[in-house]
Amino acid sequence: MKEGLDRIRKRIADAAVRCGREPESVRLVAVSKTRGADLVARAIDAGAAILGENYIQEARDKFNALYDRPVQWHFIGHLQSNKAKYAVRMFDLIHSVDSLKLARALDKEARKNDKVQEILVQVNISREASKSGIEESGAVDLVTRISGLENIRVKGLMTMPPFFDAPEQARPFFRELARLRVRIADQAISGVSMDELSMGMTGDFEVAIDEGATLVRIGTAIFGPRQ
Ligand SMILES: *Cc1c(COP(=O)(O)O)cnc(C)c1O
Repeated sequence: MKEGLDRIRKRIADAAVRCGREPESVRLVAVSKTRGADLVARAIDAGAAILGENYIQEARDKFNALYDRPVQWHFIGHLQSNKAKYAVRMFDLIHSVDSLKLARALDKEARKNDKVQEILVQVNISREASKSGIEESGAVDLVTRISGLENIRVKGLMTMPPFFDAPEQARPFFRELARLRVRIADQAISGVSMDELSMGMTGDFEVAIDEGATLVRIGTAIFGPRQ
């Protein structure tokens, strides 16, 4: 576990340096979906600082077992509005907000919990029907509307390109998200920051870093293939 994590951290740092960025400007989200609390605890012991979870129920079991560990919890899966309550209680950052309805549900729960919930807006750059995310053409409008919600803070954007065997093929999608980030930042929407770009997984994170990723979401390269 430790070796695998160290190897990934080294690859992240090398990729950052290669394109003239500070290694610290890229944070690793260890994607622990389908892995049990024991394995996740070992990842934390080995230095994982951020965990990424996809499913609320599964995350709750692990959160209850590990809530006192010094680690951030990020939600990266598709989130239904009726699960907003649980998401707000557990997660420091929700990467996958793609509708005003979901943002409103999170805002309401955050207010009840006296919390300001940080989120990213997920954009479906590739416009695949199977993918979550707002279409690029609707992203500025969505961010503007969400910015009116008192207990939500937009911190950036997230995307998931189609799966390719060759990582270079994902580059245009990462580049497009980075461009969109600049376009939204240029609007200087009150209360909105575009600090974070969540993009890049096991197969393509080096390309994503080259295109400006600040959060890379890596599962398989840390934990091995999912069952
Ligand atoms: C599973 C998952 C990842 C990690 O994928 P790997 O290929 O195992 O690194 C990243 N992001 C999201 C949204 C995921 O669902």
